[in-house]
Order: sequence, then C-alpha cells, then structure tokens
Amino acid sequence: MNKLRLYIDIPYEDKSEALRLGARWSKTTKKWYIHNTISNVNEYMKFSKWLFAKSNDLIIATEFLFIAQGYRTCWRCRQKTKVAALGVGEFAHIFDNYNYTQCRYFDTSKNPGTEFHLAWAMNEHDIPPKLLQYLKKNFSVWSSYSYYSGRREFSNHCDHCGAVQGTKHLFFNPDSPFCLINIDDETEIENKVSKLKIIGIPILDDLLLKWNVLITDKDDNYIKYAAPGYLSLSNNKYTDYAKYNELYYFTDIRR
Ligand SMILES: [Zn+2]
Repeated sequence: MNKLRLYIDIPYEDKSEALRLGARWSKTTKKWYIHNTISNVNEYMKFSKWLFAKSNDLIIATEFLFIAQGYRTCWRCRQKTKVAALGVGEFAHIFDNYNYTQCRYFDTSKNPGTEFHLAWAMNEHDIPPKLLQYLKKNFSVWSSYSYYSGRREFSNHCDHCGAVQGTKHLFFNPDSPFCLINIDDETEIENKVSKLKIIGIPILDDLLLKWNVLITDKDDNYIKYAAPGYLSLSNNKYTDYAKYNELYYFTDIRR
C-alpha cells in the first residue's frame, strides 16, 4: 500500500542532510517527499528549514480539500452571483515566528470529509493546478487588482458584470454568504448555511499550502446544514483520492 507523502522543495546542496532526516526522492515528480502523517506533525517539523523556505505561515492539509459554493448580490449590478470559497478538513497550521517554529494541529477526530473550515488562497499559484482549473471552469475566479490591499489577488467576480467581489467582503463581512462569525442564532445559522453547497475533494497525500484558514466554534454547521457535493480529482478509476502528482499535473501517475 502507498504510504502518505508530503512533497517539499529541498535544494540540491541540502540533499545529504535531507536524506539523513528521512526524506526520499521521487523520480516521477523530481521532488523530495517525507513519508508520514499529519497526526505526527512534529516529524514534519524536523524539515522546517525547507518547509518555511517560501513562507513563514503555512498549513498542511490532509484527507480532504473543499470548495464552498454560495451566492451574493453584486455590489455593482445588484444581480445575484455565484461565488466560491475554499475549505480544508483536518489540518495543521505551521508558522515560523522569528525562527521559533510552531505548529498547531487541530485534531477533532472526525471522519474524513466531515470536518470543514473556511479557507482562501490570495495567490492562485498557491492552489493545486488541477483544483484551480476546476475553479476557473466553474466560477468567475481569476487574479485581479485589489484596491483594498493594493496588489493582485485571486478573487471572485460577478458572473454578470465582472466586478470583483472582494475577499474581505466574502469572508468577514456580516453579509458574506459564508461567514458565521457574527451570528449566534441557530435558525439564522441554518438558514444561511443551507444556501451553501460544500464540495468535498478527497486527497491522498498531505499538501503544504499557503492558504488562510478561518477557524470558528461554528464550523460544525457547514457540514451539518449545507448541501453536500463530491468531486474526485483522481485519474485512477479505483480510488477517488487524488495524489500529489495528479493535483499538480505530472503526467506519470505512478509515484
Ligand atoms: Zn455585477
């Protein structure tokens, strides 16, 4: 049986150190990987020097990624438009604060696919290409300039007039179709979440992602009340769980 893997970038000159720590080389992807599971996340932290090479604030996602589909009224044309958010299931938040590495592993011991936390990637390059392709095909998402942050961001746009539906609007404002932060009433929560569709995407390998994740004590309501969806990004007819090399488009699906 294939063990789980976490693929990481290790520069050539660090090869022997990485080997000694237990990293292995994949000929198919031409990348290094660590054999492990997220439940033993401290094992991953042995490789923190390379994990944090590009960013000091990352997540390691396991078991499932999600797309949340909702609707909002466009601020410009006032028409109802479809919008997307991302989501993760069980994951670890790893961050490096002035060379003090920290890791928070959120273990809620729920069955795979039944845990959901809202997430987003500000940069489309931080989304596995096969998932990005699906998003671009099914939603008006692309990178555009944000006046709010002063830089290009991966954002939703109105299906009718193309106006950007800012990420802040989507996730934090009380009128967001996704955000539950300001709601305490159970009926109101059910009412809002029941308009969403939460699409579960099973993943085989753990994924290192630069995604922002919003965790609240109301997150159980998403799976409880939203319409369920399911999407396999695997090329293998025997499993729905997509491997790293499938999500990142390596044509050879052996590992
Ligand atoms: Zn519009």
